[in-house]
Amino acid sequence: MTRVVSTSPQRPSDVVVDAPATSPAEVAEAVRRARRAQRRWARVPATERAVALGSVADSLANQEKELTSLMVREVGKPAGEAAGEVARAVAILRYYAQQCYDPVGQTYPASRGLSFTVRRPRGAAGLITPWNFPLAIPVWKAAPALAYGNAALVKPSPDATACALRLAELVAGHVPDSLFTVLPGDAETGRALVDVVDLVSFTGSGAVGRRVAMAAAERGIPAQCEMGGLSASIVLPDADLDHAAASIAYGAMGFAGQKCTATKRVIVVGDAESFAEALRERVLGLGYGDPAEDGVVVGPVINEVARQRVVDAVAEAERAGGRLLTGKEPADGWFVRPTVVTGLGAQERLNREEVFGPICTLISASNVDHALTMANDSTYGLATALYTSDLDAALSYVDECASGMVKINAPTSGVDFHLPFGGEKKSGCGGKEQGKAALQFYTSSRTVQIVAIR
Ligand code: NAD
Repeated sequence: MTRVVSTSPQRPSDVVVDAPATSPAEVAEAVRRARRAQRRWARVPATERAVALGSVADSLANQEKELTSLMVREVGKPAGEAAGEVARAVAILRYYAQQCYDPVGQTYPASRGLSFTVRRPRGAAGLITPWNFPLAIPVWKAAPALAYGNAALVKPSPDATACALRLAELVAGHVPDSLFTVLPGDAETGRALVDVVDLVSFTGSGAVGRRVAMAAAERGIPAQCEMGGLSASIVLPDADLDHAAASIAYGAMGFAGQKCTATKRVIVVGDAESFAEALRERVLGLGYGDPAEDGVVVGPVINEVARQRVVDAVAEAERAGGRLLTGKEPADGWFVRPTVVTGLGAQERLNREEVFGPICTLISASNVDHALTMANDSTYGLATALYTSDLDAALSYVDECASGMVKINAPTSGVDFHLPFGGEKKSGCGGKEQGKAALQFYTSSRTVQIVAIR
């Protein structure tokens, strides 16, 4: 039997969980059970669904400290961010508990009788998730799925199996049996899930996301895929340089740069030298080390393969003429020092491909148009940040950014949980998730016409 083994990135000898992987036959059986539970759940009044989600929120909130420590241990997320993620998961559940009461359709003028639309749950939702937000991502998919009357089956990343299994324990008893299921496993389990569910929401790398989207298209089921990014932060000459440097240092290196929205390219219009120095100081000032320790912002990367990818990317960048502003010092375990590279051409790998770790490039642009052209010259389109003190100008640039999210004077990473979230181009397809946008994905709309015959 295949097993899923998840180890701690800061202490690779620490096995956090060793669990059997879910076979394709077990996946199919779980989906059959979920469908039966879902048919009853869809008829449960919104008031009861709201109460159930509220009690799941309480269940997580009661275990806030334990969940935080588990997340720090399993994925190496710095403790402050991990606590924030647990609080976010609780807030998402409370938010969707209230969304149960939202309107589910619209009425239209009718020549005779009544014309209206009504939204219905789609059925059993397959939720395939990455390891970097081990609680928030499963919850931001499952909470709306359940709120709108679906069943939810989560296939977590192998590297986040323990967090997902603990989530399943905390949900159990608050919603009907088989309505929420966690299916540990890797690609085989994920593929089997896509083969049988009624809709699939995926978050992870572009390569896998495109496969999931194609498999779903073959089956004629809706798919929403949130994938990688190569987000740019643009610093304009009138920006508060100190604020921009601090914000970008965090946006690029927080949680060792392992966020889809992390800044990977810093584009400076104007005095690039002064900004490089300010950024260098801010990056060197970030707390680095054991993610359980207070003040640490940059912990390890998730595993040995991830670390090697960053090390290889640094070596390649240096061969291509890149100069390291920071980084390069020796490091133990799966740690890599936050690394800023300058002097790379636009076609070099770090300016074209996502390297999921604490690494970004610094590029200089001759003017704003040049900066925006460079920022948009990417197959990705997740987030863009603009640093400026001219808000009028900033608002006019929003339209020019080819990304799903635009931040002004704030890091590319991070978005409020009640806002629609998602990318364009190879960063996302199938519509945004979170906030009110989730209703569109987790329900389908029926158009109803009632004709009065007398
Ligand atoms: P990954 O693509 O390797 O894995 C994601 C999930 O897909 C895992 O659960 C994995 O087991 C599963 N999987 C793998 N092959 C599969 C297949 N053939 N069919 C079905 N499922 C399969 O990604 P990861 O390494 O876990 O996460 C890092 C990536 O996620 C980065 O590229 C990052 O940018 C991206 N990410 C995107 C967002 C977003 O919202 N856009 C958020 C977080 C992370």
